[in-house]
Amino acid sequence: MSNKKNKSKENLVHSEQEKDNAKKYQNENSQVVLELKHINKKYKINNKEYFQALHDINISFKNGELVSIVGESGSGKSTLMNLIGGLDSDFTGKIIASGKSLGELTDKQLDSYRKDKVGFVFQSFNLISHLSILDNVTLALTLSNVSEKEKVERATNMLKMVGLESQLKKKPTQLSGVQKQRVAIARALINNPEIIIADEPTGALDTTTSMQILKILKEIADSGKLVIMVTHSEKVASVSSRVVEISDGKIISDKVNENYKKLKPKENKVKKNEKEKNGNPIKQNLSYWSAIRLSFHNMWASKTKNLLMSFGVAIGIGSLILMLCFSSGITDYISATMKSYSDPTIVTISKKSEEMMSFSTFSEEEIDTLTQEINSYLADNNVNYTITEDNISYGFNVVTMFGKLSATLKYDKNGDGKIGEDEQLSIYYLYTTPPYYTEQNLVEGEMSTSENGIMLTPAVYKFFGEESPIGKKVEISVFYNDTQLVTPDSEDAQTSAKTTIPIDQEITAIVDTSVMSGFPVVYIDYDLFASYYEQFAETPLSPNSIYVQTDSKATSDIINRYLSTREDVSGSIEESLANMFTEMTNIIGTSLTVISMISLLVSAIMILVVMYMSVTERTKEIGVLKSIGARKKDIKRIFSSESFLVGLLSGISGLVFAGILILIVYICLTTFVGFAPLSFKWYYPFIALGVSIVISILSGLYPASKAAKLDTIESLRRE
Ligand code: ADP
Ligand code: MG
Repeated sequence: MSNKKNKSKENLVHSEQEKDNAKKYQNENSQVVLELKHINKKYKINNKEYFQALHDINISFKNGELVSIVGESGSGKSTLMNLIGGLDSDFTGKIIASGKSLGELTDKQLDSYRKDKVGFVFQSFNLISHLSILDNVTLALTLSNVSEKEKVERATNMLKMVGLESQLKKKPTQLSGVQKQRVAIARALINNPEIIIADEPTGALDTTTSMQILKILKEIADSGKLVIMVTHSEKVASVSSRVVEISDGKIISDKVNENYKKLKPKENKVKKNEKEKNGNPIKQNLSYWSAIRLSFHNMWASKTKNLLMSFGVAIGIGSLILMLCFSSGITDYISATMKSYSDPTIVTISKKSEEMMSFSTFSEEEIDTLTQEINSYLADNNVNYTITEDNISYGFNVVTMFGKLSATLKYDKNGDGKIGEDEQLSIYYLYTTPPYYTEQNLVEGEMSTSENGIMLTPAVYKFFGEESPIGKKVEISVFYNDTQLVTPDSEDAQTSAKTTIPIDQEITAIVDTSVMSGFPVVYIDYDLFASYYEQFAETPLSPNSIYVQTDSKATSDIINRYLSTREDVSGSIEESLANMFTEMTNIIGTSLTVISMISLLVSAIMILVVMYMSVTERTKEIGVLKSIGARKKDIKRIFSSESFLVGLLSGISGLVFAGILILIVYICLTTFVGFAPLSFKWYYPFIALGVSIVISILSGLYPASKAAKLDTIESLRRE
């Protein structure tokens, strides 16, 4: 019995002593800054089970206290710290900090509570490794968008206070453990919070350095702040003003240290943020500019990865630009060419061939029927004009470049009477001079006639050198590899394969024909060519083009309208050539588009993966940012600015790549084809940059929002 009584008396004494202590403490006009009432915290283990980590915690703290929280591992100390620090808001009961109940704060208010009211110090320091010491400390101010000058000034002062003023430019990895912890303390203090929470701040340090950290924390407490630290060290605990012991989620003792002696409080140099207006936190966000700077630091830290990634995007962007240049180049080229052949009163009718690269010819009857049909169409359309035989002339135009007919030009350049290898030139086109060619189309010389002469395009200057080729004798050999080309319907023509037509003529002029200028083209009068042809092919030449002279452009337009409804004919050779180019452009353009689309898609996925990995890699950093008050928005902003930077970098390297690509294509085309239809518009780089940035930002959206959603405590636990 007495034993039992004794025990309860002991309890009484114990609690009376506590009251005593509390009284003693109240002397120094201190006030309660943190109050916990009936705090219960349960962790969800699975769908059914919960683990109760804290049981009905009731305790209050005053400013100026240096509280040690002690207890065995797993007793709930960190859980309690996370609740007080506003990192975890899933609890029951009331936590009243600086007059506000944490459970009732909105996410936004909780963010600003973390930013301005509490400072966190962790056992593992949790510094951001790619930022300098100074930048680590200014980070919390960066989140509040404080001016650069003020940030540096305040951070420097703070680092001076923890004795690190000479290490500002260093990276965390260049510091010792105790120095890192000093940086972390400086960071926790930078926003001048009322409460400092330190979860085993000396856990990673030895006794001597632990005492250095403790001294700093004591100074902070003595300057009037509440410092709560979790510790395992009895020595550390013995120096604090109050020791609270937790076991199995309950407070089992709470003792005030009577021997605690305050230091002479140091002057508090820390400036307060202008953070409240009528009791509401004013909008203080991480500015875009700061977010970009932060991301830049991070990207710089992994520059190789980012550079490689941007090369990938650059290929897509490069081919996009090349495609744009090529498409518009061809379009410009064709329209320029079409303009240079303009006699609107002449209608060209070419026979369409069944086979590609081949040609069919018109028979006399076909020409008669066609003429009649056109005339009746004109009559139907009330056009007072009739085509007669006199208005019609013939043409024979073939692509000899890759057709069934080929031609070479031979010229005894060195005058030794023999034709050497370098004195032969492949002709790309064999044309009969169209009726709309005039003196105006000539670069030099005179028009050839039905009796005499051929004309060449400027491409042959390459062959003849500086010398003017006018008046020079050349021999042109036209070969047939397919008799169908000669006499489409004749039986015996099949046996005359590989017929050679030698044409000995002098060059009378050089014609500039724009579209063909780069190619070696021979122009010969139709009648002159026909006479050679009949002689060697043993059949008369049939035209594959006919030219109709009309009275006006209006008539031509109506005829062209009629022709466009017919399947068997097409317009001029230039027009069909233009069509061929357009077709080629479309093929090349489409493949370039496909290539650039695929590579842009691949780039987008690549950015997504890299950004996603970056989020995983930087989970801890995100936790740190959140613990010092970064909002979801801020985290999103940091990652989005990183993808913006990736886009910018990729866009720029894409432009460089495109430049090189275009140069190579230009050189290749001019060397092998003779002309390079590439046209560059001033806004292409902007399109490319825009595309690259949009793609990057879009692919960065998901990782950024994932980063913003990460759980703070879990991310901090990540190693
Ligand atoms: P201390 O910091 O005192 O070592 P903690 O506060 O970290 O202890 O943990 C208290 C108890 O809560 C431990 O038993 C721990 O296993 C449990 N706990 C901590 N975090 C979680 C969590 N996220 N989910 C489930 N149980 C947890
Ligand atoms: Mg712990």
